[in-house]
Amino acid sequence: MNSFYRRVALLATLLVTCLQLYGAAEPAKTIVTGDTNIPNIAIVKGMIREYFSSGRYNEEIQAVCDQARQYLADNVDRHKGKSLVMVLDIDETCLSNYPHVKDYDFGYLPEAWGGWILSGKSPVIQPSLDLFKFAGEKGIEVFFISGRLESEREATVRNLQQAGFSNWKGLILKPNGNPSTSLSFKSYQRQQLTNSGYYILVNVGDQYSDLEGGYSEAVFKLPNPLYFVR
Ligand SMILES: [Mg+2]
Repeated sequence: MNSFYRRVALLATLLVTCLQLYGAAEPAKTIVTGDTNIPNIAIVKGMIREYFSSGRYNEEIQAVCDQARQYLADNVDRHKGKSLVMVLDIDETCLSNYPHVKDYDFGYLPEAWGGWILSGKSPVIQPSLDLFKFAGEKGIEVFFISGRLESEREATVRNLQQAGFSNWKGLILKPNGNPSTSLSFKSYQRQQLTNSGYYILVNVGDQYSDLEGGYSEAVFKLPNPLYFVR
């Protein structure tokens, strides 16, 4: 070992000794930080993975869809003579994007997301498909109102059909370049449906922006821990 490295090794030994002496002399202190209310992202990712893999996500979706189904069953006769409608959102309501989100470790890359939507491979959310079919049996028309873009219409129709949806009344998508928030776009579309003579008995979505803003008799919020849309 040359003299330079000997000196570095000596200094390192001295430094460690000083730190040990200091540590021995000073009692442990409570460390206070300013971020204790912020969840750790790695822990949250683990919780979400477990939420899906344990089956709890599916159970909670099923429970909300069961309530929507019961509401339709209990209230359809009260509105005899009206053009009754159920509004459904698409992403994380009828179709799941969890496979894509998980592949990207919960990151959001707009181009990759767009490619995934255009692939039309989002798997069905079965309780929502069952609810869709139940509405059909009760003579209730279904309109999808989605923040997906018009440029994604063909892929969306293909995906919905492959997932088992058929004979819906309308598929309302956002015009490309429309700057509206989801809340204002969707509530405006429900207002338009109402003005056209439809009565929205039930509205189901995974975001509060799917449901707020009126023009629905009853709203049902599905769980979605993956993202938040205003
Ligand atoms: Mg959604």
